[in-house]
Amino acid sequence: MGEARAQKFKRVTGKVTELRPIRCFTCGKLLADKYEQFEERVKKGEEPKKVLDDLELKRYCCRAALLTSVDFMDEIAKFKK
Ligand SMILES: [Zn+2]
Repeated sequence: MGEARAQKFKRVTGKVTELRPIRCFTCGKLLADKYEQFEERVKKGEEPKKVLDDLELKRYCCRAALLTSVDFMDEIAKFKK
């Protein structure tokens, strides 16, 4: 990978990180592709733990990264009422 391309990649991922967890902070596993599925299914009323199992997120650090981001959004929604 060339230097310019590496820098572009860094810029893009840096931007996404501000919105949602693109990677697990602890182990570095890619979460961006799982986050949308997780959020959608939890909003439909599925058990978060079951969805995490389906997405094959077995490590506690990855599960925590997704769980806390969704909990945080719920808190914001409560305050907006
Ligand atoms: Zn992890």
